[in-house]
Amino acid sequence: AKVLVTGANGYIAMWVVRLLLEQGYTVRGTVRTADKGKYAAEYFAKLGFGPDKLELVVVSDIAKEGAFDEAVKDVDAIEHTASPFVPDIVDPQGYIKPAVQGTVGILQSALKHGPNVKRIVITSSCGSTSIKEVNEKGLDAMNMSKYRASKTLAEKAAWDLYEKNKANIGWELVVINPPFVFGAWYDAVVADSPKTQDFLYTTNSWVDVRDTAMGHVSAIQKQNAAGERIIVCGGAYSWQEWLDAANSIQPYPLPNHPPQKGLPGLSTSYLITYDTAKEQRILGIKYKTKEETTLATLEDFAVRGW
Ligand code: NDP
Repeated sequence: AKVLVTGANGYIAMWVVRLLLEQGYTVRGTVRTADKGKYAAEYFAKLGFGPDKLELVVVSDIAKEGAFDEAVKDVDAIEHTASPFVPDIVDPQGYIKPAVQGTVGILQSALKHGPNVKRIVITSSCGSTSIKEVNEKGLDAMNMSKYRASKTLAEKAAWDLYEKNKANIGWELVVINPPFVFGAWYDAVVADSPKTQDFLYTTNSWVDVRDTAMGHVSAIQKQNAAGERIIVCGGAYSWQEWLDAANSIQPYPLPNHPPQKGLPGLSTSYLITYDTAKEQRILGIKYKTKEETTLATLEDFAVRGW
């Protein structure tokens, strides 16, 4: 079977592509320029997946009408991950337009030109699970808020389109909602200034990038994922716990940060936790622990240099 992965050079998408290829799928990946696809093509060729297994095509502007019309032809499933996730866009529409129009666009392309498509998976965000209303004019808003608005509006638009067309289409929609996807947290943990207690107390929820990718792949395989939005979440964290995990692992002790004991009472003071009961029932991901994610991250840095 052939799967279309949008934004195939992205952090999460590279793992989605890898798992798909390893499971025997062929993949068509979209990138914004041919240049951006070079690293991915070389990386996967080294793993033994040449152009016969992974075809990279250029979709330069996902917000343009009909952008995916060609790319959806002859694919059996779609993983739509492409969306702006960079911290420096000022105009909220810089996030919202590609997120919403890209999502609506790929569904419309599948409607018109994807007769073989059975499943479409959209990468949304845990951010979209808590926002009720979006004010699109917030130029002064924090960039994270603009980004979360874009994810919320994109997911909503996807469900609206799906509900309207459900009776006449051959595919089902699944939405995956991850919290912060790790691991690569070099700047947060290792950067040379000592971290303050305040910072170390900061908490949120996380999921390993490989588990996130597994959720995307399972979502095209499990029949009862159809029509569901599914949170994939490995658990809650404080930065102190990542430090402790890193320092418990040899031979990669971190510079400047001696092992510290966990903060007392922390397990009751996480600010954001998510219920994964639905995910466990439908997808059944075996989540990586903080130690496993940390080890993989540190090994990566050790191989590539700090
Ligand atoms: P990356 O920035 O690594 O990947 C994003 C991908 O989307 C890249 O291929 C990028 O292309 C493409 N993209 C970005 N902006 C545009 C645009 N305006 N038009 C077309 N393509 C664009 O991020 P992630 O892999 O982390 O994110 C992938 C998805 O996961 C996104 O939908 C994101 O919202 C979602 N997500 C991520 C989380 C995380 O913690 N990382 C948490 C929850 C959800 P290019 O390389 O050319 O810029």
